[in-house]
Amino acid sequence: MEIIKDIKGMQQRAKALFREGKTIGFVPTMGALHEGHLSLVSRSVKENDITVVSIFVNPTQFGPSEDLDRYPRDIEGDMKKLQAAGVDILFLPDVNDVYPEGYRTYVTVEELSTKLCGEFRPGHFRGVATVVTKLFNIVRPDRAYFGQKDYQQSVIIRRMTEDLNFDIQIVVCPTVREDDGLAMSSRNLYLSSEERKAATVIYKTLSEAKKRLARGESFRKIKEFMQESILSVPYVKQLQYASVYHPETLDDITDEDVNIYKGKKVLLAVAVVMDSARLIDNMLVDL
Ligand code: AMP
Repeated sequence: MEIIKDIKGMQQRAKALFREGKTIGFVPTMGALHEGHLSLVSRSVKENDITVVSIFVNPTQFGPSEDLDRYPRDIEGDMKKLQAAGVDILFLPDVNDVYPEGYRTYVTVEELSTKLCGEFRPGHFRGVATVVTKLFNIVRPDRAYFGQKDYQQSVIIRRMTEDLNFDIQIVVCPTVREDDGLAMSSRNLYLSSEERKAATVIYKTLSEAKKRLARGESFRKIKEFMQESILSVPYVKQLQYASVYHPETLDDITDEDVNIYKGKKVLLAVAVVMDSARLIDNMLVDL
């Protein structure tokens, strides 16, 4: 596996690969890699000649009181996992090269960035859209792989890719879960064993809400159930949102709209602040 730290070096490598007629699959990450990340990597390895993975803990997507400084880092472990997964190039840019002195340009995907997580993490998706734009311009992939775990992010990236005419296919891969259903996340490392147990309520709540949707229960009752269910366990400091949403606009949907959604998908999504980590999860459900 080749390791490239230099932005120009990565750009030149990407251009050379393009001239050779090779397709590039790209998996952007913040490291502390787990099976969720590796599922994106293996999909990319299958579908492209060359797979590039980036590890970059992007400061512009963290709020001032968030966990940028303590975000888990394990570059040695990550390199072993990526090597074993058949990755061709690991791109490790330096933060001072990504955002040099005088940096002034940001990408904002309007409306979609202020709903759900955006309401509680102002500026987060602006940071994500900006860094992904930069990485797309550096790595020049044919396909880029994202996880459904960060559903809102995937919707925003798709919108941005279309709006800015990036000639890149966005592939969204299913959420990889622990045996008890908890969505894998680098932030799960923050949880104490008691919190880890309590956190299983998120998957249980989503699964039960899905069943209730299938039974035709009203959106209002399902929302009430989701909120009560999550708030019933210890270590939940704040329930930021738990509801039923339009899968593209991310608008909260009400029972008045139920007929519009017959035969279509709706999104169940949750964000919970536990004592030591903020956790999100979601499910797409056919009505
Ligand atoms: P991160 O390192 O958290 O920025 O995540 C990098 C990519 O991996 C994003 O596209 C995430 O959506 C994806 N990802 C993270 N956790 C999972 C998971 N449990 N299953 C599938 N994809 C995931």
